Amino acid sequence: MITAKKLAGLAAAALVALPLSACVNQQAAETGGEPAGEGGGEGVTIGIKFDQPGLGLREGDTYTGFDVEVAKYVANELGYSEDQIEFVESPSAQRETLLSSGQVDMIFATYSITDTRKEQVSFAGPYIIAGQDLLIRADDTSITGPDSLSGKTLCSVTGSTPAEKVKEEYPEVELQEYPGYSQCVQALSTGGVDAVTTDNTILAGFAAQEQYAGQLKVVGQTFSEERYGVGIPKGDVDLCNQINDALTSMVDSGAWQTALDETLGASDFQVDTSVNPPEFDTCS
Ligand code: GLU
Repeated sequence: MITAKKLAGLAAAALVALPLSACVNQQAAETGGEPAGEGGGEGVTIGIKFDQPGLGLREGDTYTGFDVEVAKYVANELGYSEDQIEFVESPSAQRETLLSSGQVDMIFATYSITDTRKEQVSFAGPYIIAGQDLLIRADDTSITGPDSLSGKTLCSVTGSTPAEKVKEEYPEVELQEYPGYSQCVQALSTGGVDAVTTDNTILAGFAAQEQYAGQLKVVGQTFSEERYGVGIPKGDVDLCNQINDALTSMVDSGAWQTALDETLGASDFQVDTSVNPPEFDTCS
């Protein structure tokens, strides 16, 4: 999708690039080829996580996970083929900025719908509902939930709702914040922290990773509701409705369930069927 902001950026880039690329573009025009660069095709830029197995994971040129599958389905319904999608890494703390600066068109990145975030961005969906939980070492019997964390070191990610909740509701817990969950899980496995907190979806994906097999476990007591929305630029009601139509078709066709089974279903994650697949919010 080409936004006004992007167009302005492209125009500026084209002006700067003109002296060098003019002859190349001339050649492309003569041979009927496309000039290289962003303006060459009408693609869509989609923000995902790159380090969350089962949700959004990049391995070389391959992207896997439930968020990736939902993103590809929605993009396809909006008229974009898979090769027109450019995936961009969207760490938790950068999602609002990536959307409002026009660096991405949509975000599918375990992105909970919250009133605070809605001051800067809008959301379609939700397309799945998860809950905050704890990941601990498999041999730890001392941590049974958020109330058993005093004196323990807990890891979460900057700009995430789970980190915010811990700071507000469990201020006695020693919280370490990293840019991404893979860093937290690494610290947990080497003894640098005692627990990792975020959504049960994400934690189940890490616990099931081959490199951590048998070493980590999810406590299994959720203590929040995380409703994953599709982040879009603030106020784009048309886009929101188009995405919700695409999500409806994904659920009705069975593709939503298949995507879930083939991604998070491979870990121990059990979706809460009393709230999933979820009802959408009204687009505004
Ligand atoms: N769903 C939570 C959030 O949007 C945690 C996962 C994440 O950081 O992406 O903050």
